[in-house]
Amino acid sequence: MRRCEANSIAVFCKGERLKLLFLHGWNSVVGGVKPTYLKNHGYVVIDPPLDNDNFDDAVRTGQAAYDLHKPDVVVGSSRGGAVAMNIESGDTPLVLLCPAWKKWGKVTKLKSNALILHSPLDDVIPFEDSVELLSNSELPSETLLDVGRDHRLADESSLAVMLWACDLLRSGEKIPIIDEGPKRSFLPRDDGQSATSDEGSYICDACGEEIVIPIDFTQGSTQSYVEDCPVCCRANIVHVQFDDNGGSEVWAEPEQDYS
Ligand SMILES: [Zn+2]
Repeated sequence: MRRCEANSIAVFCKGERLKLLFLHGWNSVVGGVKPTYLKNHGYVVIDPPLDNDNFDDAVRTGQAAYDLHKPDVVVGSSRGGAVAMNIESGDTPLVLLCPAWKKWGKVTKLKSNALILHSPLDDVIPFEDSVELLSNSELPSETLLDVGRDHRLADESSLAVMLWACDLLRSGEKIPIIDEGPKRSFLPRDDGQSATSDEGSYICDACGEEIVIPIDFTQGSTQSYVEDCPVCCRANIVHVQFDDNGGSEVWAEPEQDYS
């Protein structure tokens, strides 16, 4: 089995794409920004509609989806984070986004292969709740990532950290220990630039999927490289061209003729 050389893409060539169970927040819609982002970065996302009124029902739905799909990683957002904590998920890693565990459910501890993303500026679920969860679980401070500026965590920077957390945990790697402080900060940059300018996308010629890629401005104004499509694993030659205004154009052509 060979891993695609694309950046942060969760697929194994010639194998199955990795599955992710996404448990949405209270009154959130299925197919929101976060599950869509994960889907666009190669995961097969199972995003079941959870009952907003009855928490036990939501847990039953989450459990049924887990049992049926056997995901490689479970992501729970806010109330969905509490659902994620309250389902039986064995050794499957958990990524929790500002989990509302004090409001819903009975579970007050986390397994060891888990990461929490939470902003200290969250005005819906207090950041301190995640600090408390960490201490209940006797997990190292690196388990809690200081991310974003609000409860939604739908900004580019938070989405990228969420993807990084999923990739890290399902690969079984250890959480990097940070020397300089108790928490890792992923607060978005304050330079007024749009974070989205660091990404581009191209359409895979072989399967027609839109592939989002990180753009590295340090590699010159004209770039070409070969990358396996994260969806169909066929090789594309990816071209990146910058214009004078800081914008970029990305396109791809097949490395070889498949017809
Ligand atoms: Zn493709």
